[in-house]
Amino acid sequence: MSSRLDNLHRKLDEKGLDAILVSTPENRRYISGFTGSAGYLLVSRDHAALATDFRYTEQAGSQSPDFQVVKVGADWSWLRDLVREQGHKRLGFESQHVTVDTYRQISKALKDLPSEDRPTLAATSGIVEGLRTVKDREEMDLLQKAIDASDAAMDLVTPTIRPGETERQIAWRLEVAMREAGADSLSFDTIVAAGPNGAMPHHRPSDRAVAEGEPIVIDMGAKVGGYCSDLSRTMCVGEPDETFRKVYDTVLGSQLTAIATVRAGMTAGEADALSRDVIAGAGYGDNFGHSLGHGVGLFIHEYPRVGPKSESPLEAGMVFTVEPGIYLSGWGGVRIEDIVLLGEDGAAVLSKAKK
Ligand code: ZN
Repeated sequence: MSSRLDNLHRKLDEKGLDAILVSTPENRRYISGFTGSAGYLLVSRDHAALATDFRYTEQAGSQSPDFQVVKVGADWSWLRDLVREQGHKRLGFESQHVTVDTYRQISKALKDLPSEDRPTLAATSGIVEGLRTVKDREEMDLLQKAIDASDAAMDLVTPTIRPGETERQIAWRLEVAMREAGADSLSFDTIVAAGPNGAMPHHRPSDRAVAEGEPIVIDMGAKVGGYCSDLSRTMCVGEPDETFRKVYDTVLGSQLTAIATVRAGMTAGEADALSRDVIAGAGYGDNFGHSLGHGVGLFIHEYPRVGPKSESPLEAGMVFTVEPGIYLSGWGGVRIEDIVLLGEDGAAVLSKAKK
């Protein structure tokens, strides 16, 4: 855990910050190990505090031994006092998470300080999220458990889908199977999209019954120890039509090409193009309207964003999804998604569910 703190210290130096107030729950958990639902971190080079209320002080003490646990009430006097004690002059906060209301309360509390002790508040974004893109061993273990749970559920349930069963019934069976395979909860609402519904990438399961010969898109994820899996498969009950064969083969070819050829050092946009070019070459360029993939970890969608035009470099140790799709209005869709770990020599596929 303390290497995560060290990495954050380096970022503070890079950004010229004396300290950062971490409020995003996933970032708080990543840096401190604290899993409670409320609390803030105040981290500087020399000091790390975890401020939380009486419900969590005991838990915080055991989960975050590197942190001074500060018991707080509803106001921000704790921050004012710590900032004065530590002499912070430039205090970063996570602008994507702090509400306008919270910002005002913090500013007001800091105004109580004499002007020479009052820090400037600096809006930051993506600092801890950037650290989270490269996963450490402990994270990989949890992530693999989450991946294994959704893989097991997919392989258990999909061979038993029969015509007449509704999307909602299938989704429920998948959710039960994920929990039975070790999931603590779900990463997101399960998607089961049969026939024309599959043309909507984020369709919600309905009472529509599955019919023979039509595509069924399933996209689901399990959560274990805070880490999310994300898995999509497309199948057909009975004999697929010509369109299904052509579209499925194109998506699969596109996915396997990207997995086989993605390399550390490419930009995320270049990785996206590996797959997109195959789909465009088959004449379906206009039917692949979303990004190739996204980072996955404590959040179901995190950095890196693997989409067209993204200039961010892909690094060894990053974990992201590879999920091309083709969507045809009135017919349905095909999406195939796996999670990969990028290494120095290419990507390792972490998902094992059958295709
Ligand atoms: Zn995904």
